[in-house]
Amino acid sequence: MSLPNPTGHNQWYPFANRPLPPEVDGCLTNPPAIPVFDSVPLPPSARFVVVGAGVHGLSSAYHLAMYLERSGRGKGSDVVLIDKQGPGAGATGLACGCVRNLYMTNQLHPILRASVEVWESDPVNFGFQQVGYVSVGEANQEEDYVELHASQAASGYPSDMYTGSDAHAFLTKLWPDFKTENCDVVLHEHRSGYAGTHIAVWGLDQKCRQWGVQRVYGTTVTGYERDASGSVTAVETDHGSISCEQVVVGAGAWTPQHWEWLGGPSHLDVVYPDGHTEEQMDMWTYWRLLEGEVLLPEGVDFRTAQYRDSPVLHVELLDTPVYGEDGTMILDHTYVYTRYAAERVGAPGLQGGTIPIKIGPRAEVEPYGHLNDLYQAEEWFADYYCSALGMLFKRLENLRPYFKDRRNGGIGAFTPDNVPVFDHLTDNAWVIADSNHGFKMIGVGKLTAQMLVYGDKPYELKPFTLDRYRTGGTFGSRNSNSPWV
Ligand SMILES: Cc1cc2nc3c(=O)[nH]c(=O)nc-3n(C[C@H](O)[C@H](O)[C@H](O)COP(=O)(O)OP(=O)(O)OC[C@H]3O[C@@H](n4cnc5c(N)ncnc54)[C@H](O)[C@@H]3O)c2cc1C
Repeated sequence: MSLPNPTGHNQWYPFANRPLPPEVDGCLTNPPAIPVFDSVPLPPSARFVVVGAGVHGLSSAYHLAMYLERSGRGKGSDVVLIDKQGPGAGATGLACGCVRNLYMTNQLHPILRASVEVWESDPVNFGFQQVGYVSVGEANQEEDYVELHASQAASGYPSDMYTGSDAHAFLTKLWPDFKTENCDVVLHEHRSGYAGTHIAVWGLDQKCRQWGVQRVYGTTVTGYERDASGSVTAVETDHGSISCEQVVVGAGAWTPQHWEWLGGPSHLDVVYPDGHTEEQMDMWTYWRLLEGEVLLPEGVDFRTAQYRDSPVLHVELLDTPVYGEDGTMILDHTYVYTRYAAERVGAPGLQGGTIPIKIGPRAEVEPYGHLNDLYQAEEWFADYYCSALGMLFKRLENLRPYFKDRRNGGIGAFTPDNVPVFDHLTDNAWVIADSNHGFKMIGVGKLTAQMLVYGDKPYELKPFTLDRYRTGGTFGSRNSNSPWV
């Protein structure tokens, strides 16, 4: 079978009839990750307009419709979901799909607990593989692990922690060929895992459809009409405007544009808990992700000694370099995550990545993702990723020839402390800005819907206000080279 591959990027489409990349104003545009059907024209008004059919918009629309129907407070069709392309056309459709709670920002642990409850609610339709998540560090991260292990337990997210010889024993019991040198501390999260992104998008879109959400795809939001108090009265699009009572924005890498339309600040003074202030920081900083896929050679698997799909593996060794095949150092530290990804690779294989690279306050968001020539991983990434895997597993030595030559790039808009902002920007415009953490945070849409239908803000959402930057509640305690902690 020949798959549509007009860009020559060696894409694998699990849904073979995925549409070809369309052009908007002469520019290639990332298509939805799934076939789109039953989408409706823009209605003139709605109670709730959700902008963006990524994980947050889809989850918000699905849960809103479900709670409205179940509570008798409205109908599923009171919710209109708008996307300029369709489901999964942004980061959600191309994420690695790792679901974990490995955060040194303890306030995120309840968000992940609420999220895993959604993943667990329909693992088949969400493509959720609850294989667990194993993270490995050097002794220099032990204190952080002790703290986050305790915080995870307190938030209902059980994990086990091992140090020293116990850590080595745990790793080699799972994977007898694991090379445990410098692996001093291990955390094993039981409720974590990964999800195939296209299946998850499909499942969420179908749930929106089943609960009656009016799904308007192929319509671009061009601005927000607001009254003198700042409230949104209508959402403007290239197909006319839709008046509404409440807007939810889940716009991923496009958030800075919507933020500006809604009157959000482009710069702000950021006050930290120790009292120091960083003046006039950019509200948004783009980073580009470094990810890739590698085929497993014939006869090599990524299963445990117990014949199970392996947990997702995350290794950060701050002082352990990675060397290439010729013995030269590629980087002076190790940071790699990997998961079994046959559904993505198109054959038995692994998908993973390393620390993203900062771009700055502006980026070329279009075309998004794999189509953008500017933001794909360079050659060294393939060397680094394969060498790091070979450093960790005997069975994964010499993987470099099996690295899949295809694009895996994508960018994200990060906040000043690299932690999400979930907040009202006007009294009726709720913005879900996940700081590029959030494929795993499928539960934010559920918490959002609970708040909008029942009135009270769930405690899980409360720490993530914009005001934290002004009041000294800025996050940022971390001991890692990555912005995702
Ligand atoms: C390469 C990569 C790998 C990642 N891996 C992981 C991972 O393993 N685990 C994890 O938890 N997170 C991961 N992430 C982060 C995660 O994918 C994102 O944080 C999350 O998917 C963002 O979801 P979203 O709904 O906010 O935005 P998106 O998925 O980007 O969706 C936004 C949608 O809004 C639409 N839109 C934007 N502007 C308009 C407009 N004006 N009018 C109409 N529609 C509009 C877009 O078309 C798009 O469909 C990864 C990200 C990238 C880039």
